[in-house]
Amino acid sequence: MRKIEHIGIAVKDLQSANRVYTALLGQPPYKTEEVDSEGVRTSFFKVGEVKIELLEATRPDSPIAKFIEKRGEGVHHIAYDVESVPAAAARLKEAGFALINPEPKAGADDKLINFIHPKTTAGVLTEICQPK
Ligand code: ZN
Repeated sequence: MRKIEHIGIAVKDLQSANRVYTALLGQPPYKTEEVDSEGVRTSFFKVGEVKIELLEATRPDSPIAKFIEKRGEGVHHIAYDVESVPAAAARLKEAGFALINPEPKAGADDKLINFIHPKTTAGVLTEICQPK
């Protein structure tokens, strides 16, 4: 793990969350993107080297919709930058962590990603990502 790449925050309404985070961080999001495979719409803010990713569900069966239903709005995941998602996934699997996807997949922000189940990371959904 080389650094924290971003922190994902689940929100009910991206437009109003964008306003709140623009006021909080003193700058607007630098991009907004829809990831159809995940059923999410995202916007990204830069805070130094780290990004804040706001996530809104685009359909009821989206993982974000389910998360908000269960736990409400809030921190959804922490993403770590790695050199190689497949190599990191193999190392983590070997160490006993539960990977969510059998293979890396395409995420927002031109990344190759995978997730580690929160049951093996003290309750925190953990993402590993690399630039595509
Ligand atoms: Zn993420």
